Amino acid sequence: MRNLNFYEKYSRTFRDNPLFSRFLVVFAVSGGGLVAYSEANTQTGAKIDDLPVADSQKKRVVVLGTGWAGTSFLKNLKNPSYEVQVISPRNYFAFTPLLPSVTVGTVEARSVVEPIRNIVKKKNVDVNYWEAECYRIDAKNKKVYCRTSQGDKEEFAVDYDYLVVAMGARVNTFNTPGVEENCHYLKEVEDAQKIRRTVIDCFEKASLPNLSVEEKKRVLQFVVVGGGPTGVEFAAELHDFVSEDLVKLYPSVKDLVKITLLEATDHILNMFDKRITAFAEQKFHRDGIDLRTGEMVVKVSDKEMSTKVIKTGEISTIPYGMAVWSTGIATRPVVMDFMKQIGQANRRVLATDEWLRVEGTNSIYALGDCATINQRKVMEDISAIFKKADKDNSGTLTVKEFQEALDDICDRYPQVQLYLNNKQMSSLVDLLKESKGDVVKESIELNVEEFKSALSQVDSQMKNLPATAQVAAQQGSYLADCFNRMEECTNKPEGPLRFRESGRHRFRPFRYKHLGQFAPLGGEQTAAQLPGDWVSIGHSSQWLWYSVYASKQVSWRTRSLVVSDWMRRFIFGRDSSQI
Ligand code: FAD
Ligand code: MG
Repeated sequence: MRNLNFYEKYSRTFRDNPLFSRFLVVFAVSGGGLVAYSEANTQTGAKIDDLPVADSQKKRVVVLGTGWAGTSFLKNLKNPSYEVQVISPRNYFAFTPLLPSVTVGTVEARSVVEPIRNIVKKKNVDVNYWEAECYRIDAKNKKVYCRTSQGDKEEFAVDYDYLVVAMGARVNTFNTPGVEENCHYLKEVEDAQKIRRTVIDCFEKASLPNLSVEEKKRVLQFVVVGGGPTGVEFAAELHDFVSEDLVKLYPSVKDLVKITLLEATDHILNMFDKRITAFAEQKFHRDGIDLRTGEMVVKVSDKEMSTKVIKTGEISTIPYGMAVWSTGIATRPVVMDFMKQIGQANRRVLATDEWLRVEGTNSIYALGDCATINQRKVMEDISAIFKKADKDNSGTLTVKEFQEALDDICDRYPQVQLYLNNKQMSSLVDLLKESKGDVVKESIELNVEEFKSALSQVDSQMKNLPATAQVAAQQGSYLADCFNRMEECTNKPEGPLRFRESGRHRFRPFRYKHLGQFAPLGGEQTAAQLPGDWVSIGHSSQWLWYSVYASKQVSWRTRSLVVSDWMRRFIFGRDSSQI
């Protein structure tokens, strides 16, 4: 009772003085990390006040985003010498690979999310979270400007020592007219929930007595735009939902349902092995999914979309009940604005170096879908590499000199190793030997021009990393590891030689390890492409998929929820209630 009185008394004080309450709450949450906070709205011309900075010995790390990259960074950060401020409009982590399952209720939305506060609460690192979105990064003054998601969308600014940008990307509509207004996306949990409601809506609507058959057909025409893994998986999930659950509940309209998958290139699942693509296309034909490749959407209105056959230019229209747009990603406006500030205006994606540091800045890191690694070319540094390797300054490289520099070269330029692997050579010396012809290995000696020509092809192996959860998560844990050992590695650098300058790099560069990828195709069949081009398609891979996705869950809570959802679905089918 005494507690209640205490609570009532103070809550009244706060209600009467809202500004006071907000000030106190923010200070308590931030641990003094807040630099500026105010009711003012900069867009209306008022200014953002600066609050005094709390005295802190700790370096402040601001993390933007609670997706795969940001969460993996937070989970792996162990060094207590940082004060971490997380800012994201989403107070949870979402396991995106299961979003297609959420669209039809194979898995429930709450089973694939975990509150970010849960994820960071057990750590010995000082981590705070604010629900807000960053609308401007000021690299010069080391500040980020944010807007809360609540109420009046108030604005505030935060200082940082290090900034970790992990804001992901937005959906790419390719500026196709009408997409934003009329299509569903499949990017966030809310999108999946909306799709689920709309599918049921369409079935209920089509079952009403006052609709003509033509109209019923239109309402039950589902169009999926984009034949990448997400579009394909959604089409497969929708087909399963219809054929396993809805046909029993809506017998009068079951024959009117049509699922169409549109893809602009000649095949779906282009990033997969050809065997997988072929199997998926055949399976979709067998399942009665209308697969239209080589066709792009040019305009969408509320009830129909216009498409163009790329080869012939022929335009046709598809009346539809629901359309899902899943054609890839583009850079967020706040990141574009930041790129202009730091001299990356002519690029499409924010570029970082191999240590995930944003090019043109020194304390900003970017990872996941919002950035791409700009791998340095060997040919740009070839003279510097030669000079560093030629220890005796003789103007020629002997095999011994070369071998001594080999590890550093392969570490700094991973394309070299890829090139050797592709050519099935065991070391760079084989490459040199190839360029020198018949000479005995040990007596090879190259001048700079010969060295250049030996390595002239290696840069052709450079590829951008795909925008996947796997890449984002590995980057997050790599960066956390760098932060964990920042001091140690500053004193004792462990990275490769700096070829253009003196000394060594502090850390080894980020290296992606591809662990394989899945494409669930419906009917309890999945295609799996594992490292070494090992391909497996069918029911056995579906079990592999279940076990991998269960094991990859971010917590035991979500793991048990997901597994019980799967079991519920096996026993009772999917729920089609309109809630
Ligand atoms: P995200 O995970 O998108 O996170 C971005 C974060 O930034 C979010 O928390 C967001 O709220 C926050 N944010 C946004 N704007 C702001 C702002 N202005 N200020 C602050 N924070 C902001 N990949 C795979 O490897 N395997 C799969 O099977 C797979 N399936 C997928 C299925 C679907 C339906 C989708 C959409 C994606 C799938 N992906 C898959 C891709 C994978 O989800 C992304 O590559 C991954 O999410 C990228 O991680 P990220 O941290 O860069 O971005
Ligand atoms: Mg020499």
